[in-house]
Amino acid sequence: MRVSTAFNRLLKIPGASVSAVSITDTDVEVELRLRARRLECPCGHTSPATYDRSTRRWRHLDLGTHRLWLVYEIRRIHCPHCGVRTEHVPWARPTARHTRDFEDTVLWLAARTDRTSVSTLMRCAWETVTAIINRTVDELLDTRRLERLYRIGVDEICYRHPHKYLTVIGDHDTKTVVHIEPGRSTESLAAFYEQQHESDLDSIESVSMDGSKAYRVATEEHVPNARICFDPFHVMQWVNRALDRVFADASSANRRRIELSSGSWRKVRIALRTGAERLTDQRRALLDTLTDQDQQVGHAWRLKEQMRDLFRVVKPSRAKRHLRTWIDDAAHSGIPAFTMLAQQIDKHYDGIIAAVELGISNGLIEGINSKIRLINARGYGHHSAESLTSMIYLNLGGIDPKLPTQR
Ligand SMILES: [Zn+2]
Repeated sequence: MRVSTAFNRLLKIPGASVSAVSITDTDVEVELRLRARRLECPCGHTSPATYDRSTRRWRHLDLGTHRLWLVYEIRRIHCPHCGVRTEHVPWARPTARHTRDFEDTVLWLAARTDRTSVSTLMRCAWETVTAIINRTVDELLDTRRLERLYRIGVDEICYRHPHKYLTVIGDHDTKTVVHIEPGRSTESLAAFYEQQHESDLDSIESVSMDGSKAYRVATEEHVPNARICFDPFHVMQWVNRALDRVFADASSANRRRIELSSGSWRKVRIALRTGAERLTDQRRALLDTLTDQDQQVGHAWRLKEQMRDLFRVVKPSRAKRHLRTWIDDAAHSGIPAFTMLAQQIDKHYDGIIAAVELGISNGLIEGINSKIRLINARGYGHHSAESLTSMIYLNLGGIDPKLPTQR
C-alpha cells in the first residue's frame, strides 16, 4: 500500500485526499488536496476563481509521539458578499491554525481540567489553549438559548480588582448562562435587553437580581411587565454575613467563658453555616454546646435557618406571613447585626416574596459563583473579560463540547 493511501485511510479528512507524506524524527507532514473543484467562502458562497494562494499548516491530533500537520495550499477568493476572503476548508474553522478535531479535544479537556494539564497533554502553549477557547466558544453557543426565556437572573461578577466587572444573565429553568456583558451598570443590562426581539422580551416573566439599583432601573425600563425578584442566594449571603458577625463577637468576648477547645471553635464556625439537615451528629453536638452557652448565637442561628426555610419548605401562600414574622423577630432580637439586617430585608420585602412565589431557586446564581471559583482554580485566569466570558460560556453556556470520537 502506498503511504498516501495509508494516510487517507487513517486520517479520513473530510472532503480532501492525501497527496504526499513526509516523516521526520518528530513530525509528520501530510499534504492535502481538496476534492471539490469550486472554492467555498466561509459564508457559503462558491466561486470558480482564485484570487491568490499560499501554503498553510494546521496542527492535527498527534500520531503517537509525532506531531501531525496537515499542509494545504490555501486560496483566497473574491466573494461577491464578503470581498477577498480565504476559502473554507472542511477540517478546520475559518482562520484557525489547528484542526477542528484538535480544537474540540482542547475544549473538551478545558471544560474538565486545569490549563497546565491541557497544554501539557496537547503539547501546545497555554496561550494557545486560551486562544482556542476564546475563538470557538462563540461558534458553539446555541442561538436558540435566547428564545423563550421566561425566568432570568442577572448577577455581577468581579474579575479583576478593583472595579472590573461582568454582568452575567442566566436562565433559571435551564441553569445556563445565556448572555454576558462587560460592566455592571444600567447600560450593561440594557444592552442585553436591546439585543432581544420584542416578542422574546414579552415572554420574560421575572428577573431575579441582587439589591443593586442599576439592574432594577434597566429592567423597569425595558421589561416593565416582568416581576423583579431578589435572588435567595444574595439574601442568604446577607444572613450568613450577619451570623458570622455574631459568631465573631461571641468568640472574641466569650472564648474563656464558653467551654470549647480551640479546634472546636473552628469546626463550630463551619457548623453554623451548614444547613441544619446536613449537619453530622458530631457537628450538631458542637453547635448545641455553643448555642446553649451563648443565647445570641443560638438566636442568630435559628434566624438563619428560618430564612433558609422560606426558600426551601415554606408554602408560597404562607411566605408573606413567614417573612413578616422573621423581620419582627430579627428587629426585636437585641442582636445589632440582625436588627440592621431586619431593616435591609424589610426594604426588599416585595422582591424576596416574588422570588418565593415564582419559585426562584439558588441554583443558577450559586452555579455561576461556584463555576467562577473553579475557573480560577483551574488556572484559566481572570486577566481579561474575554477569557473569563469564554470560560463561563464553556462551563455554563450549555455547550457540552464533544470529542472527535464522540461525534
Ligand atoms: Zn462570502
